Amino acid sequence: MRNRRALLHVCCAPDATVPWPALRGEGYDTAAFFYGSGIHPREEWVARSDAVRRLAGYVGGSAEFAEYDPESWFAAMKGMEDEPEGGKRCAVCFGLQLAAAARYAASEGFEYLCTTLSISPHKSPPLINGVGASVSAAAGLKWIERVWRKNDGFRLSVARSREMGLYRQNYCGCVYSMRRQEAAGSIFIL
Ligand code: SF4
Repeated sequence: MRNRRALLHVCCAPDATVPWPALRGEGYDTAAFFYGSGIHPREEWVARSDAVRRLAGYVGGSAEFAEYDPESWFAAMKGMEDEPEGGKRCAVCFGLQLAAAARYAASEGFEYLCTTLSISPHKSPPLINGVGASVSAAAGLKWIERVWRKNDGFRLSVARSREMGLYRQNYCGCVYSMRRQEAAGSIFIL
């Protein structure tokens, strides 16, 4: 049977440690796509990109990296700077990330699209899967709907990323989430 080609949108390497092997185990020929333009500052983007490259080495798969273009990300977020995490800004951010992945998947002949985002206990799986299904349909792809945090997926991803020695951040990614984390003065694992 011909392998089903799937592109996995990877928000960060630790969050991909469960979904990437799981999709391959389900028979999807899976490659990764890292968007990253919302990540602040650039050094953080470099650290997270390097972690995705390292994970690709562990998994034995390939990873594609979008050009780092924070200006376009900030332009899309205009007027939503003060939104709380989980609000409108995050919905638009998911849309940018997943639309970029869908464009790449369609241009490279993938049939399926999925994301690691739903492994986070801080993000809404219905919102993520809704956005994913919509961008996939627009690009002529099939969306793989998953809630990766189910079945202890998040805890497993923390354990695996520790075993692999992967860099693990303490804020979601954008400058607003970084400031919130600094203001809170505490660390929560994403
Ligand atoms: S908190 Fe995370 S999901 Fe929300 S806008 Fe920032 S980077 Fe995007």
